[in-house]
Amino acid sequence: MTDVLRSFDPATGELVGEVPITPVEEIPAIVARARQVQPSWDERGLEGRAAALAPVGEELLSRAEELAPLLTREMGKPLARSLGEIRACGKGLEEELAEIVEALAPEVVEDERTRSTVYHDPFGVCAAITPWNYPVAMPHWLVLPALVAGNTVVLKPSEETPLIGQAYAEIVADALPDGALQVVQGADAQGKALVAAEVDLIAFTGSREVGKKILTAASDGLKRVILELGGKDPLLVLADADLEAAASFAAQSSFDNTGQACISTERIFVESPVAERFLDLLVEAAGEWSPIGHGLEEENRLGPMVNGRQRDHVLAQLEEAVDRGARVLYGGEGHRGNFVQPTVLADVTPGMSIAREETFGPVACVTEVSDADEAVRLANDSPFGLGAVVFAGDEERGREVGRRLTAGMVGINRGVGGARGTPWVGARESGYGFHHSRDGHRNFTQPRVVSTQAEQRD
Ligand code: NAD
Repeated sequence: MTDVLRSFDPATGELVGEVPITPVEEIPAIVARARQVQPSWDERGLEGRAAALAPVGEELLSRAEELAPLLTREMGKPLARSLGEIRACGKGLEEELAEIVEALAPEVVEDERTRSTVYHDPFGVCAAITPWNYPVAMPHWLVLPALVAGNTVVLKPSEETPLIGQAYAEIVADALPDGALQVVQGADAQGKALVAAEVDLIAFTGSREVGKKILTAASDGLKRVILELGGKDPLLVLADADLEAAASFAAQSSFDNTGQACISTERIFVESPVAERFLDLLVEAAGEWSPIGHGLEEENRLGPMVNGRQRDHVLAQLEEAVDRGARVLYGGEGHRGNFVQPTVLADVTPGMSIAREETFGPVACVTEVSDADEAVRLANDSPFGLGAVVFAGDEERGREVGRRLTAGMVGINRGVGGARGTPWVGARESGYGFHHSRDGHRNFTQPRVVSTQAEQRD
């Protein structure tokens, strides 16, 4: 009898549905099938593959309203956010495809003696392993460039969101030859088996801990890896900042998606002369992140934590922080089921676990600092380095302070996401390899250089 993976609504505990778990012993054959199909997918050429994938955009847009409730029921986020996530993947698809095609086109490079062509060839079979917090966007960000590059893909969606993962994969697979995108369902055992199988590239988005395990496992066979991992993003509020804007951003970036975003603000450093005023404004802004309840009910701004384990982790960090002297200025109580109230903490000190380990929950943690130098020092005192934000009245100074932060993506008076065409990249232990951008798309390929004698010039 096949085991099944049950998906539960984190708001109610009700069963949303189930899928068969892929037996680990079947995974090598799934990968072998992907390898068998890969040459014919590759033969379609770069433009041909992009053209095959183009209808996926329209399909995602036309099915967004049908799929959004499933996304919400599996992981809890408010329906409008689920809709937004699916539509964003559909809407940007054509431009995204054009950008990947441009990045992967062969290039001619010449010097006096040699004429070379650099080809960006597929690796072969790509394993894509993804988390639950953006269960359509995260697979999409890996599967799309991997396929356009000419790889075939075996996707393992998170065990928390198997149904929406399956639905997304079916939409993409419908545009492809049989076997070019297959799904493995399950948890860490299936992830491990997929990494251990004959795959050439492992594209992973998830936690730092699992990323390290994958890097170790991939070293046998020197498999290529792209790891997008967790963060502990700092927000620096300088004394001349627009404090209302900074507080509103701090609340949004700490609480949105119930804090379950890799680029959530997890640590806030504010210069002392404005700390009190900033905290008042932050408490006021926190009040706007209610009500909290089932994501399918339109009035709710925040949904539940994804599961009891994640809730317990956040509550344990909160309790430890309070025991060690942090002050609760907002929330901090009234948690029920998997719902954790948005909470504002002041007097957070660097030794607390809430200041060091990824929280992934709706908590805004504020530490007062004497000046920008102290803020930079504390912000950089972390193994993580995904994003960072600086709010400053003098934008040039904000930029200067931002350049001293060790994060891969830095926003000045705004969030961290860069312009279209820039990489999505974590520094230090928040990433190993990256995607998006010309160079990011090329990470899904093996460069090969073919050279001839250059034509003689006079
Ligand atoms: P996770 O690392 O627990 O799981 C991610 C995926 O890896 C899941 O599909 C899981 O089944 C699989 N997995 C678990 N153990 C494995 C193993 N040993 N080998 C192979 N696969 C294995 O992460 P999560 O809880 O699903 O997601 C939350 C984490 O993801 C947070 O740390 C968050 O910051 C991070 N994240 C990062 C980004 C980014 O772009 N940097 C984006 C979203 C989420």
